[in-house]
Amino acid sequence: MTVEKPRHRSYWLREALAAEPALSAAETPPLDGDRRADICIVGGGFTGLWTAIHLKALEPALEVRLLEADICGGGASGRNGGFVMTWMSKAPTLLKLCGAQEGVRLLKESEAGVRTIGAFCREAGIGAHFRHDGWLWTATNKAQLGAWKPCLEALDKVGLHPFAELAPAEVARRAGSPGHLAGVHEAGVATVQPAMLARALRRRALDLGVRIHENSPMTALHRGTPPAVRTARGRVEARAVVLALNAWAYELPEFRRSVYPVSVDQLATEPVPERLARIGLADGVAISDSRLMVDYYRTTPDGRMVFGKGGAGHLLFGAKVGRKIEYPGTRHDEVMADLRRLYPDLADAPIAVAWRGPVARTSTGLPFFGRLEGAPGIVYGHGYSGNGVGPSYLGGRILASLALGRQDEWAATPLARGALGRLPPDPIRYFGGLLVRRAVMAKDRAEDEGRAPSALVRTLAGFAPSGLTPKRKG
Ligand SMILES: Cc1cc2nc3c(=O)[nH]c(=O)nc-3n(C[C@H](O)[C@H](O)[C@H](O)COP(=O)(O)OP(=O)(O)OC[C@H]3O[C@@H](n4cnc5c(N)ncnc54)[C@H](O)[C@@H]3O)c2cc1C
Repeated sequence: MTVEKPRHRSYWLREALAAEPALSAAETPPLDGDRRADICIVGGGFTGLWTAIHLKALEPALEVRLLEADICGGGASGRNGGFVMTWMSKAPTLLKLCGAQEGVRLLKESEAGVRTIGAFCREAGIGAHFRHDGWLWTATNKAQLGAWKPCLEALDKVGLHPFAELAPAEVARRAGSPGHLAGVHEAGVATVQPAMLARALRRRALDLGVRIHENSPMTALHRGTPPAVRTARGRVEARAVVLALNAWAYELPEFRRSVYPVSVDQLATEPVPERLARIGLADGVAISDSRLMVDYYRTTPDGRMVFGKGGAGHLLFGAKVGRKIEYPGTRHDEVMADLRRLYPDLADAPIAVAWRGPVARTSTGLPFFGRLEGAPGIVYGHGYSGNGVGPSYLGGRILASLALGRQDEWAATPLARGALGRLPPDPIRYFGGLLVRRAVMAKDRAEDEGRAPSALVRTLAGFAPSGLTPKRKG
């Protein structure tokens, strides 16, 4: 496997690293030599770090080693929009895949997970700008109106009512722009400075005795018994290996048909607090629309707008995740155009940093966890499909149970039975993906202009996997 180091750090990671003591890197030296551990985790994002913390909470004496190719938080965890979401918007799929009882349990756990992350930020003394002001799931054109209805209906059937329906004027007021025509509000969602959270999880893991090796990419995975991980200068043999690789899992042949890496783009403006105050964006609410290439945005406490665009900014060809998925590319203009359309008052706000990062999509829009076939000592978890900041807390809990061979509700959940759907093989995936991507863009554009997309465009766009919000029919 190869992991390209980002040339370009996110705004979040720059801010988080600037606040760290200079000696911090010395605590996480690259792996050098052969080592043994009870559990070896590969990947130092939210999933790997929460897994380490859960493992130490369950069995404090465990020897846990974590290998990270870059620095902890260098992947998607330090680059995302910082929406700490529940799984409520995924309710229709989750309930279908897991059944009502387990589905409701996971939905409630995902809400509790957001609260636990908030408590962690407070206890760790970092704050991490955690603001529990909810999520506005909105429509920014007529075609998007009511996009949330199937989800609210599915939740209603199991007695859950996490979304409040707001009057259109209230949605526009809270979102700070009349471009928001309608929407619902989920109070259980929060926003956070994600890189600060990732670095605080790293700190907590170190304090619990987890040995972390940054700048230590796994170069080979030994699928025997016991399993082992090799890096350029060392090797870790362990009772169990946990792969917490996000989109990079795609580089392992086992996941080529179940994980679909795409890039997501994002930018942060310079502080413009007076303009945000003028349009009424005063709190930490998370806002998104309901298009397939979802626009999602929030402000920061120092008065920046952080605006992102989901969906496939870039599709991969071949077996490597590589560089293109890492850096702001040709899509900057597209992201800016959406920002200007929704917030004309911010049209000329100076951009501080623009970046992009990898998202692992799956055919269900939900992550999956499991054991590598033929190598039961190797467990994995990935595929959050753009909603991983909150759910990775639960993902870590599932992986901790799998790694320890526990027989509990986390190991038994249907989400821990491996991939729940398969994607087409290459080159159909790649060329089909390009067609679908073009169709999604054409559909979004037509709907913004109040036109009906053609039947062909609608059909092709229908093949896009769901992302942050579920797919709309038609
Ligand atoms: C721009 C962007 C915006 C997003 N916005 C949101 C949002 O607002 N809300 C939300 O819920 N989700 C969002 N997401 C998704 C969210 O960031 C992820 O679901 C979450 O961070 C996944 O955590 P992870 O630990 O699984 O992955 P990562 O944080 O990517 O961690 C995987 C780690 O594995 C390391 N690695 C890879 N290969 C190797 C190797 N060979 N050896 C060792 N280490 C390796 C990587 O360097 C990386 O640090 C967004 C993602 C992006 C990119």
